Amino acid sequence: MRPLDDPSVAEFRALAHQVIEAAAEFLGTIEARPVFPDVSGEEATRRFDAAIPEEGLGAAALQGDVLAEVAALSRVHHGGFLGYVMGTGLPVAALGELYGAVINQNVTAWRSAPAAVTIERSVVRALAEAVGCAGFGGSLTGGGSLANLMGLCMAREALASAGEAREEREEVAGGRAGVIYASAEVHMSIPKAAMLLGLGPRGLRRIRVDGRQRMEVAALEAAIAEDRAAGRRPLAVVATAGTVATGAIDPLEEVAEVAARHGLWLHVDGAYGALGALAVPEKFRGLGRADSLSLDAHKWLYQPVDCGCLLYRDAAAARRAFAHTDDYARSLTEDPIEGFAFFEESLELSRRFRALPLWLSLRYHGLAAFRAAMRQNLEQAQALARRVAEEPTLELLAPVELSVVCFRWRGAGEGQGQPGLDRRNAAILETVLRRGRVYLSNATVEGRFALRACFTNHRTRPADVEAVVAEVLAAAAVS
Ligand SMILES: *Cc1c(COP(=O)(O)O)cnc(C)c1O
Repeated sequence: MRPLDDPSVAEFRALAHQVIEAAAEFLGTIEARPVFPDVSGEEATRRFDAAIPEEGLGAAALQGDVLAEVAALSRVHHGGFLGYVMGTGLPVAALGELYGAVINQNVTAWRSAPAAVTIERSVVRALAEAVGCAGFGGSLTGGGSLANLMGLCMAREALASAGEAREEREEVAGGRAGVIYASAEVHMSIPKAAMLLGLGPRGLRRIRVDGRQRMEVAALEAAIAEDRAAGRRPLAVVATAGTVATGAIDPLEEVAEVAARHGLWLHVDGAYGALGALAVPEKFRGLGRADSLSLDAHKWLYQPVDCGCLLYRDAAAARRAFAHTDDYARSLTEDPIEGFAFFEESLELSRRFRALPLWLSLRYHGLAAFRAAMRQNLEQAQALARRVAEEPTLELLAPVELSVVCFRWRGAGEGQGQPGLDRRNAAILETVLRRGRVYLSNATVEGRFALRACFTNHRTRPADVEAVVAEVLAAAAVS
């Protein structure tokens, strides 16, 4: 039997060396790999769904070829990966993941992890400042979905505690009243949050969008008035800064005006887009008026998953929602730094050291490099849009606001109807993925099936942009 004693330092070094070698081999060959493995579910199961050995394998358990096999059955985020909204994972950040796991801090409170808590609070403040929300606090989360849920939970508690009558307060806190407003293009994590908050099927109203996929402010205003008149209780407005389908940015300043006029909490879902304010702040005017804002460093800050973030203006609002501290966890100090506990401002208690990879990679590359990579992604999206416009058999389906391009193959005008075009483009997408050079995903834009390329990838080069067009045309010829 191989006991759980730590390996000797020499053994640890040798094992770590094997892992680093495998990782370096992966990175060194990343551009030559197919973007998605040619493997069936059955094959993957046969390969990896094996019984855990009763007797340990020792070093063989993590020898390079085992890890290489894992990589061989994995999606690869090389320069041609343009699906969904996916940050590519900076190698320096990955080293931070390893080191953070070795020192294994539980980032609950300052007294549990002095360095980790200090670094996280500092990085969060820096991110807030970088996107135009100077003075905001917050925490790193498992992703935008959790950040959105937490922001809306804070909104509800803020309303509940502001309620005049006790009865009203209880209704809101119990989730029986309260309506959230968001655009028709809102990310699925918002309806999920409304459901988890117990707001019921009428707890989320999706507001019409304009021709640029942005929330129509007049329709928002009308919906709030209608709900008020019907005795419902408006709770929060969610503005999206970068919709997942097309990258549209709701008119933040106008939406903030409406929210302020009606005394409503403003949450901004910036999971995809808000970090874009580092490169193009002029597109994000009004972000600083949010009460809470979610953003995802594992998207457009190129961090490995998972690294989301919730920012908020007022830490007291976070504590109102999340401080339920039992005696066993209560801090014994009044010191504002040493007494700080993330768990009093977050849904999470045990938390890993998410800030270390982020902090190391920001220090290593510097903010200017991140801004440059983002600008490059914005330019790549424009370049792809231009290429699509040049091709007679392709057409753009939405304006390119940030780094998403939605387009489709439309043929040479042989008069296929909408359902035919949708089916044909779905088939083209499947062929493109099978060919393995670039990875696109899909979206529905005004009811039409769109091929979708999202540039949040620090590895993408002009040849990858060109390959998108070439691959779609090649796939159209055989699909
Ligand atoms: C990705 C995304 C989310 C969800 O974030 P996760 O980190 O995947 O949980 C929410 N909103 C938008 C606009 C997104 O792009």
